[in-house]
Order: sequence, then C-alpha cells, then structure tokens
Amino acid sequence: MTEYDAPALPQERLDAALRAFDDAAHALIGPRFQVRIAPDGRRIVMTAPSVYDEMTAEMAGRQGTAFGGVARSLPPLWVDGVDFFREVDGEVAAWAPGELGGTPARLNYLLGWAWTPLDVVQLDTYSAYLMRWVSLASELIEGRGAFPLAAPCPKCQASEVVHVDNAGEHVRKPALEVSMRGAECHVCGEVWEPRNLTLLAAALRCAPLAGVVSSPSCLPSS
Ligand SMILES: [Zn+2]
Repeated sequence: MTEYDAPALPQERLDAALRAFDDAAHALIGPRFQVRIAPDGRRIVMTAPSVYDEMTAEMAGRQGTAFGGVARSLPPLWVDGVDFFREVDGEVAAWAPGELGGTPARLNYLLGWAWTPLDVVQLDTYSAYLMRWVSLASELIEGRGAFPLAAPCPKCQASEVVHVDNAGEHVRKPALEVSMRGAECHVCGEVWEPRNLTLLAAALRCAPLAGVVSSPSCLPSS
C-alpha cells in the first residue's frame, strides 16, 4: 500500500476543524461588518470593532479609567465583564502559554500553528469555547445600559427576583429590567420588545420619556 492509498478523511477532518476554528476566532477578535442603507438607498458596508474590542471598550467605560488610574469615587465593578475577561483571557492563556501578547495575539498565534489530524478534537473544543464567548459577549453588549424598573411585573405581579451570584450569595433585584433588547421580567420571562415598550409603560402607568419608559417614577429610589 503506497501513501496515496491512505484515506483522505483525517486531512479533510483537520481542514474542516481549522476552518471552524478560524471562523470562531474571527467571530471574537476579527473586525465586524455592518450593512447600512444610505439616505439615497445605496448599501454601505461599514466596519465595526471586534466583539473582543467592544467588550474591552465597554469594560474601560464602566470601570472609569482604563489603565489603572484611581478614580476619586470608584464606579461599581461590572461583574459580568470581569467574569468574561477572567474566563476568556485565562482559558486562551492556557491554550498558548508561550505567547504573551494577550488574547487576540494568542489566538492569531494558534491560527498559524502547524496542526495535525491528531489535534482535531482539541480544535473543535477551542471552537466551541470561542462561539460560546461570542454569544455571551453579544448578550452582555446588547444588555448594556440596562436599568431596573421598581414597578411590579404587569403579568406575574412579581417585583423582585432573587438570584445567586458567582460568589454564591443570594442577591435581590427588581424583576423588571429594560435594556437595548427591550424589557424583560426575570421572574415569569415575559419580554416586551423595544417597539412594545409603550404598552409596558401604559400598563405601569409611567409616562414614556424620549421613546423609552425610563420615567423617573418607575426608577428604583436608590
Ligand atoms: Zn413577570
């Protein structure tokens, strides 16, 4: 049997796993493209920063100073963002411990690695991690600017939800929350899409303010 008789399958599996890894890595660290319609009807393709860069900017914005300066009054820690970077940066550092340039540099280094068919399972695992992080980041980015409503949910009447945070502590927070996704009840799961926010405002008897239901009478008195 010559080497030409060897089944091509392992190489094909490797090629597919590499393509998936490349796609998943670029979904996290590659630039994004958005299609906008110009006033004259033309489609314009715009580039946007990577999901990872957008999370980094969001983190810096929420933590005040990006490079360790001490603000006079420290803003509250963005726990979800801290958890995100702890997991992503920690995991990717374990994948490429020799490359010191941070997560994007480490992923680019891994993309250029001489992988063999024996690495297919490992590559598939990396891709699964990356895709989960992309969807987690998208959720966090879409959820930015979220604020709670002190009013009880018009559907289930619940006004508070208790959830267990990463430190294992029980935390109470208002059941209703408004974000770029719309409004959501964390108890019964009811969702009001952005275009339906006026219906929610009416149910809560809040005056709509600048197209949003953030009437002061609905904000928690903190
Ligand atoms: Zn509810």
